[in-house]
Amino acid sequence: MKNKSVTVALTGTTGAMGGEVLYSLMQLPSNVNVKCIVYEAEKKIPRFVKKTLKKYSERIYAFRGDIARYEDCEKLIEGADYVINCASLIPPKSDHDPETTYLSNFIGTKNIVDTIKACGREVAYVHIATVALYGHRAEPHLWGRVGDPIISSDYDYYSLYKLKAERYALESGIEKFVSLRQTAVLHKYMFANNLKDGLMFHTSWNCALEWVTDRDSGVLCKNLVEKDLNGELDGFWNKIYNIGGGENCRVTGFETLDYCFKTLMGKSAKKYFKPDWNIPRNFHGVWFYDSDELENYLGFRGESFESFWSEMHKKYPYFKLAKVVPPALISKFAFKRLFKNTNSPAYWLKHCKAGRVKAFFGGTEAYKRIGGDWEKFPLLCEGKSKNGEIDYSAIKNSANAEKYLLNHGYDESKPLESLEYSDLDKAAAFRGGKCLTSDYSAGNIYKKAEWQCREGHTFSSSPYTILKGGYWCPHCCEPKPWRYGALAKDIPFYAQVYFDSHTEDEVDDVYPMPDDDEEFIKKLR
Ligand SMILES: [Zn+2]
Repeated sequence: MKNKSVTVALTGTTGAMGGEVLYSLMQLPSNVNVKCIVYEAEKKIPRFVKKTLKKYSERIYAFRGDIARYEDCEKLIEGADYVINCASLIPPKSDHDPETTYLSNFIGTKNIVDTIKACGREVAYVHIATVALYGHRAEPHLWGRVGDPIISSDYDYYSLYKLKAERYALESGIEKFVSLRQTAVLHKYMFANNLKDGLMFHTSWNCALEWVTDRDSGVLCKNLVEKDLNGELDGFWNKIYNIGGGENCRVTGFETLDYCFKTLMGKSAKKYFKPDWNIPRNFHGVWFYDSDELENYLGFRGESFESFWSEMHKKYPYFKLAKVVPPALISKFAFKRLFKNTNSPAYWLKHCKAGRVKAFFGGTEAYKRIGGDWEKFPLLCEGKSKNGEIDYSAIKNSANAEKYLLNHGYDESKPLESLEYSDLDKAAAFRGGKCLTSDYSAGNIYKKAEWQCREGHTFSSSPYTILKGGYWCPHCCEPKPWRYGALAKDIPFYAQVYFDSHTEDEVDDVYPMPDDDEEFIKKLR
């Protein structure tokens, strides 16, 4: 990589991950330059990003724009050797603004992919996707991997448009791409962004989370460019990977908050929260069975869940003061005030948002059954589940993970390249349909094949998108509206995970429900 001038185009520059990617790329030799688009509607550029832009102004060309405009993407891609697409509107912003989420998360990616294809040169495309594509995971399927079914949680515009974006990229025929499904990110803006929104209550206590830090995510992208330039990434491209911090970053939703509170305030989360404040389902998060694959290629893990929180503790000395304030006061003034936020479960319950109460709790009765007593609430990390006692450390041990994996419906002991028509048709049958390309010859996993779903829709998709992407029919398996119950009713591929957190009598539910979110329904039309 010595003398050749290299340009990396970057989006999402003002975000937690994008800012770190920018900074990390600047740690490469000076022949690596960055061209970045700074979202024009972003009023406040974080100090960390400003400092980086200033310090490395000779190597960074930054311009204001919007990836939802094709011309801006053309400008970004011009002269670029790599594009790292970190731009996304994420929760809580995406929960309040479906239109901008659509533009940013889907149209932005579509424009970037289209301009790469139109530019006539080879530009390597690094797509940043999300763990939210796997939807909600509950026991016994807390471990996940590439190829698992793609499910957008009900009402989650973020994953809805990220889903369409990744599929578009996968099916685009770009010559050199990689999709990295980013996990939950521990980042420096966590308090500023989340402490003022009902999103605070969207972490399910028993969900599985494999965190990664913003800094490690930046290092990951830097290493990707560096290693590729050095010719060290044999067999890496044109695949999907899960980003995760690995063993030291795997916890549950409860453990996350509990550790955060204990480190920063000295007391358990139980002192500040009640069990029925948070949603028990329709969230997202999973422990990655396969996140070491990316680590083996890129060697990016330098931080852990615990090291992140001890650093936060050092960084925000005012938490020492919070330690002497009675938890009941903090609970009242910092958290309970958020019950009025429209993104808060308490708001949905009070204002009869029946669709959301059903989607996130299973209904008002199910909500009432949770109650406010931690003694009666089964926390997985304390060895309790709704079905009785469990051995939490055994479930969490990656050596045991294989037995909890989801079925992908074909013989995975065969290499992808040697799968034949009968294998594809078997996978299709597990998804309730069939493969129509009966003259498929082995090895063409990126070439479009024809498929039919159980509702009779026919569609073209590469075997890679279906088998490794975890996608199926674009007409009936991609919301809107969200109707995963109807899919789970007939399709084993979805049923195996859907019924972990839903009952048989929910299969006809469709979201948004007609009695709430009138505004959003109007926008969808
Ligand atoms: Zn269909």
